[in-house]
Amino acid sequence: MDDHKEVKARNTVRNIKPYTPGKPIWELQQELGLSKIIKLASNENSLGPSPKALEAIAAALPDIHRYPDTRASSLRHALASKLDLAPEQFILTNGGDELITLVSEAYLEPEDEIIVLSPSFSEYEFGAHLMAARIIPVPLNEQYEIDIDALLAAVSERTKLLCICSPNNPTGTYLPGPLLQKLLDALPKRVLVLFDAAYNHYVTASDYSSGLEYVRAGYPIVVLQTFSKIYGLAGLRVGFGAAREDIVQQILKVKEPFNVNALAQTAAIAALDDDEHVLRSLELTVQGREQLYHALDELQLTYTRSMSNFVLVELGVDAKSIYEQLLSRGIIVRYAGAWQLPHHVRVSIGTQEENQALLDELTAILHQSDSVTSLS
Ligand SMILES: *Cc1c(COP(=O)(O)O)cnc(C)c1O
Repeated sequence: MDDHKEVKARNTVRNIKPYTPGKPIWELQQELGLSKIIKLASNENSLGPSPKALEAIAAALPDIHRYPDTRASSLRHALASKLDLAPEQFILTNGGDELITLVSEAYLEPEDEIIVLSPSFSEYEFGAHLMAARIIPVPLNEQYEIDIDALLAAVSERTKLLCICSPNNPTGTYLPGPLLQKLLDALPKRVLVLFDAAYNHYVTASDYSSGLEYVRAGYPIVVLQTFSKIYGLAGLRVGFGAAREDIVQQILKVKEPFNVNALAQTAAIAALDDDEHVLRSLELTVQGREQLYHALDELQLTYTRSMSNFVLVELGVDAKSIYEQLLSRGIIVRYAGAWQLPHHVRVSIGTQEENQALLDELTAILHQSDSVTSLS
């Protein structure tokens, strides 16, 4: 009898590492007893949510005893007219994260291979582990750019999924449109591309492609977008995939019926229409990037120019300690150790004041350690 043995989770579950989120504000508040915390760790919108979304949520509250629309029809129609696709080409999900899991569930057999960039967003690997698929990491080049030749060289008979994050999290670098085209044309048609464009709104480079034109052209590509970033709705959990209708149909099969809650659907429709909020958020980010670059140059720190609302900053061997000292001063950034970048932190762009507070504390920490080194 095996009665004494413990109940066993699936083998592949052992490979799943817990996601490391940015430290929550409340947690640091409890630890330090500080009232003012600045969080620049999760690429949220420092301006807050779209005011139109807030109004829409208030108006929808009396109806929350009803189940939400399983297919988010109104939101799909709004997206279709905004993005010039058919409503049937969208699947709404509980954050963009859920789309990654659903694509994995719908497409990955055990032992299938999934190609991911390294370093990049960790959730593609989560989906792969969930399905016992094999992860094939392809490093970015030395400038942290996406190397399409290396990606193509990694394709094998077993490749099922290729995940591209552009702009890439945590580097902020992007894949220029002509290179995306070249990659898509060279890939076997049995490979599905998951093109993560979570940060597409922040790109100011004119040769960027958000991937949607390749959805329109019928390539096997799923474009991911989210309402968590520029639309400022991270707490509500809503994102979507855009793809050919036959691909959407397959992904829909593994979706839970009520995956996107009613308030999230309503808020997303309103936010999508709030051009002023999007524009202000973009301006704040573009100015914030310049503000950070300028100050980092003065501090003689190396960083990667970003097309997103965060910047990867190199702090050297003391990066972890500097990250911790920033925490003790009430400023949360993301330590990049989990991406195998132990000398880096990723800093989200905040308001002008938040960025300045970060830069002031960083300057103080760096000067303090200068004086320690020169004394010793
Ligand atoms: C934030 C993010 C997402 C989606 O986040 P959700 O909050 O789940 O919508 C997807 N991809 C990347 C690279 C992200 O940074």
